[in-house]
Amino acid sequence: MNGSELRFLRSVYSEYYLKHSNLIEVPPPVSKREIGFVVGNEKVMKRHMSFQDNEAIRKYILDNLPWDAFHSCSVYEFPENPIDKKNVIWSEIAFDIDAKDLGCQGETYWVCDKCGEVFKKDLQKCSSCGNELREVNFIASTCIEKTYEKAKELALSLVEDFGVNENEIKVFYSGHMGFHVYVDSQVFREISQDERREIIDFLLLNELQPNFFVLFSQLQINKVGVGRRIASNVVKIIESPSSYAFLDEDSIKKIEQRKKELISSVSEGSLKLALSLLGQKILKRIVQEALSMSRIPIDPSVTLDEHRIIRMPGTINSKSSFPKFEVSLSEKVYPLDLLPTYGEKPIKLKVRIAPPFRLRGETFKELHNTEEEVPRFYAAYLVSKGVAQVV
Ligand SMILES: [Zn+2]
Repeated sequence: MNGSELRFLRSVYSEYYLKHSNLIEVPPPVSKREIGFVVGNEKVMKRHMSFQDNEAIRKYILDNLPWDAFHSCSVYEFPENPIDKKNVIWSEIAFDIDAKDLGCQGETYWVCDKCGEVFKKDLQKCSSCGNELREVNFIASTCIEKTYEKAKELALSLVEDFGVNENEIKVFYSGHMGFHVYVDSQVFREISQDERREIIDFLLLNELQPNFFVLFSQLQINKVGVGRRIASNVVKIIESPSSYAFLDEDSIKKIEQRKKELISSVSEGSLKLALSLLGQKILKRIVQEALSMSRIPIDPSVTLDEHRIIRMPGTINSKSSFPKFEVSLSEKVYPLDLLPTYGEKPIKLKVRIAPPFRLRGETFKELHNTEEEVPRFYAAYLVSKGVAQVV
């Protein structure tokens, strides 16, 4: 990235922060949190800072335009001290779900920074000039939707399985490929490292056997906790059987013929009809698939580490130049349609590659080795991905 690209990104960040600094929000008590920023052209991480209140943080951000900003999930007696001398008062708990952990890779390209060639496959070396290739991962709209659904499942599990209050949970789009679920609940404030590990195992369904929840002998799914997730995923498979490669044509036909009855019986937890229709082998396969669909693929390291600093709500993520912002748990929307408004003025870019991408209700078309005028907020995304230059 050269000087003019850096200047352009800073001007977009400045516009965003001038308009939306009210979205920057560290949870209380602000002065007892560790704050960290990535600053300067060399992108240096500065940690162990503390601020009196959110206003002071907003001022720092407007003055310094950091590339990234973080706050601790823990509340400390001495937030500015080194980690072993901070003294934790209590810790909140955060979960990170990334599209990649759902097996959703998005659009990946390999670009040659020397001659500008773009490849859809990893050839290691550029076939035109022999230079090393750089992998670029773009955010894919479908992956964002899937990850958002998982974040909502996680929130539901926290409410139903752990007794957390819904208003103690906040869900955020991370600004890049995933979502953060942030919980400040008495339920979690005093838990140990081992208990954190157990929560992680529960959500990831580590080493869980289906017969904990699926009573094959009684042909019944026990619809509590994970069982509820398994039952609803069995229903999902029955709703569109042809999307599941492990089902043969004959089974798909049988499911399609009696779909309604099957859905209503499985919804009640009964597997009787499913067994008589499909046989034991197929039924077990369906349950196994439903079990793996029921995993909530959180990043364990984020949840486990009580000294973790997490991206600050309302601040820009330099991987994409989009902000992290809160999304609703109940609405059925495509989260990136709700991206706060900034950077709408157009700017001319030289674009090497950009897959189609939906943002703020608009689908940006695919671009390949072309000059194009695009809104500044989208230009900032392409520039931060290293696939566009300001003309
Ligand atoms: Zn090349």
